[in-house]
Amino acid sequence: MSAAPLSVNGRDYRWPERPIVVVCVDGCEPDYLNQAVLAGAAPFLAGLNGRGTCLTADCVVPSFTNPNNLSIVTGVPPSVHGICGNYFWDRESGAEVMMNDARFLRTGTILAALSHRGAKVAAVTAKDKLRSLLGHRLQGICFSAEKAREVTRAANGIDDVLGLVGMPVPEVYSAALSEFVFAAGVKLLQTARPDVMYLSTTDYVQHKAAPGTPAANAFCAMMDRYLGELDRLGAIVVLTADHGMNAKTDAFGRPNIIYLQDLLDAWYGAGSTRVILPITDPYVAHHGALGSFATAYLPAERIAEAGRRLAALPGVELVLSREEASARFELPADRIGDLVMVSERLTVLGSAKAKHDLSGLDAPLRSHGGLSEQRVPLISNARADGLPADRRWRNFDAFDLALNHLS
Ligand SMILES: [Zn+2]
Repeated sequence: MSAAPLSVNGRDYRWPERPIVVVCVDGCEPDYLNQAVLAGAAPFLAGLNGRGTCLTADCVVPSFTNPNNLSIVTGVPPSVHGICGNYFWDRESGAEVMMNDARFLRTGTILAALSHRGAKVAAVTAKDKLRSLLGHRLQGICFSAEKAREVTRAANGIDDVLGLVGMPVPEVYSAALSEFVFAAGVKLLQTARPDVMYLSTTDYVQHKAAPGTPAANAFCAMMDRYLGELDRLGAIVVLTADHGMNAKTDAFGRPNIIYLQDLLDAWYGAGSTRVILPITDPYVAHHGALGSFATAYLPAERIAEAGRRLAALPGVELVLSREEASARFELPADRIGDLVMVSERLTVLGSAKAKHDLSGLDAPLRSHGGLSEQRVPLISNARADGLPADRRWRNFDAFDLALNHLS
């Protein structure tokens, strides 16, 4: 163990003096917390007024899970770490592939760096899709709630997680999958007592329930109880989110969808363009792979005209060229298409209508991906004195806040 500051990806981090827990609440639009506090469902969070820190931060656009979780654990945007979606067109292999493998990661994580310096580090994620990225080169504990039954000391740095947590393995589509993450965090703090812990939940509830609804408040109440336990166990807790969440429907509850591939096929002929939806992942039942961000590959002579036509569509907020998008959103230019499209708050972008299976949507569509889901909470149980009032906080400043500014 060393007390010297640790430099990771161009930033210095102070050594933790007491346990640090950074919590990434998937899809936690700030109003979920505000409404739960108003309803009296989150007494611990409410009680931080006066003793804690409450900021609002901007997440990375595309406001999706993987780019933001990786930004938080590396402290830098996707232009540096390389993960700009769940899914992308890999030009090298000429195929559409999931981006959930550590070989796509272009830089190390704060978690791994701390562990190599001798800190006890633990990372717990709800869905297994994030585990290999979050656990990249991490010497410590790293497992998912989804695969909690399969953990081994060799692969995950811990065994018998089920015995430790005392909960059965939850369904992948459930609020309990996130509860398992919190419960594991509390048990780990009581037993292994990591110096630094990262907990990342899943947005199953947020995709179905709007802020202030009974299911949303119940989720926040669950979270609030565990946050209170982490606080009582002496940890500095920083809560942030990977992205917000919004309804994407009309008043009848029908999703507002722009099927980009169908449009481009009609304009330029089938097979001449390729729409990629980086929200695509193996767990699509709750959003049908529909979000507010898309990218497209087109023949060079079509790019400018297609950009103008797409920008004129109702529901489209923004169309950017690759260069503009990589500069504005700090994205790796080689992993996005010729055009980037962002839709408005109530609208999502689809590929071809025939490619989306919406049969799993048992509630009106709520999703994310755009600028309208960029604002997220950045809250701590500890006080930060002397923060510059004009700083634009990002969710990937969570470790900077936790290690360098809180006491
Ligand atoms: Zn997410």
